[in-house]
Amino acid sequence: MKSHTKYLTFNVPARMDLVHITPQVQDAVTESGVQEGLCLVNSMHITSSVFINDNESGLHEDYKRWLEELAPHAPTSQYHHNRTGEDNGDAHLKRQIMGREVVVAITEGRLDLGTWERIFYGEFDGRRPKRVLIKIIGE
Ligand code: ZN
Repeated sequence: MKSHTKYLTFNVPARMDLVHITPQVQDAVTESGVQEGLCLVNSMHITSSVFINDNESGLHEDYKRWLEELAPHAPTSQYHHNRTGEDNGDAHLKRQIMGREVVVAITEGRLDLGTWERIFYGEFDGRRPKRVLIKIIGE
């Protein structure tokens, strides 16, 4: 069995934004040489997500508005977590609902995604470098 590990670093300039990362993940699959296997992609931080959905800018605006309605950043005093001196209580909640990781099948050396499925990094407490892990296993 082959395995391949790669770390991507994102330094998103906004507090919250969504980044399309399917090309970088496919690059890692190609580098691995794996033809048949599985590809795990996960955020290594508790205030950011990796998820799959449509690469459509209107939907991305809808996500950001919906998440901000569910867990508004301000006032920061509304979160118990922020009593620790942090200001990112909202970002932990946003990460929870958008998920930690995705697993995608690899078939004939390609990510075997549905027609409209794309992989995204969801940042909810940006403006600093944060890592995503890609782990590929197979033959
Ligand atoms: Zn925190």
